[in-house]
Amino acid sequence: MKRRLFRFPLVAAFASLAALPAAAAPEVVTDIPPVQSLAARVMQGVGAPASILPPGATPHGYSMRPSEAARLEAADIVFWVGEGLTPWLEDAIGSLAADAVSVELMEAPGVALLEFGEEGHADHDDDHKDEHAHKEEDGHEHHGDMDPHIWLDPANGKAMLAEMAARLAEIDPANADAYKANAAAGAAELDALAARVEAIVAPVRGKAFFTAHDAYHYFEHRFEIESEGSVALSDAAPPGPARLHDIRSEMREHGALCVFIEPQLDPKLAKTAAEGTGARIAALDPLGADLEPGPGLYPTLIEGLATSLADCLAQ
Ligand SMILES: [Zn+2]
Repeated sequence: MKRRLFRFPLVAAFASLAALPAAAAPEVVTDIPPVQSLAARVMQGVGAPASILPPGATPHGYSMRPSEAARLEAADIVFWVGEGLTPWLEDAIGSLAADAVSVELMEAPGVALLEFGEEGHADHDDDHKDEHAHKEEDGHEHHGDMDPHIWLDPANGKAMLAEMAARLAEIDPANADAYKANAAAGAAELDALAARVEAIVAPVRGKAFFTAHDAYHYFEHRFEIESEGSVALSDAAPPGPARLHDIRSEMREHGALCVFIEPQLDPKLAKTAAEGTGARIAALDPLGADLEPGPGLYPTLIEGLATSLADCLAQ
């Protein structure tokens, strides 16, 4: 670890300095607040991970500020979803954090991937990986055909906890037991979370709704609810007038009860699309923009999605 290598000469030079921590926690950097939350759960009692993306920003297009670049430069390990979510981050990790361990969570063991816009293929996730995670010429795994919003399924959240604990244990063996115990406790919390979400969404299953951008397949797939469509596609790029027109027709056709806007996206487009359809406007937050960062953000975020959906659709 860079930090520790850096500290040894200091310790030697100031041998009389008391009480440097026996095992300083590694510098952990994450991409988005939900990933930071999972890492914070794994590191509870040991250290605190940083997040690059500030609350309220969209991961699909972002320019790092100097302070965020500096954070990346200081990293011993980077946990990030992958280039499909944050295309701007891959080069930055390569140039700023070249000697850090880079962990793409879309490639983590146990993380089930879904294709874009697809439902109901739980049994075939492994086949999908084989078919679509083709190797590019540089040998780097490419998940360009797979939906990157993996954290919205708490089962993937559990797989990410386990991967984070394993990778942290490798670079910081002194705290390996704490990481693994935290990940196990966190996994049990996510099982309880999934049971709560199941109970919340059960009464509104089958009701028609649209989302602001195509981000919720993992949540929908896990909890057997399904949006009829989205205003923007999965990269959150704003739709043109023709698409807005089509979406409005689809909302009418499906009798959409609700259209969900997002804090990270301009609500005008979703509101325009919903005009005259009778659909109510409500909000879904896939990133936790208004939530306090830390271990509690992730479960609050997932349960919040369920509550927002149920509150609007039950009316
Ligand atoms: Zn998204």
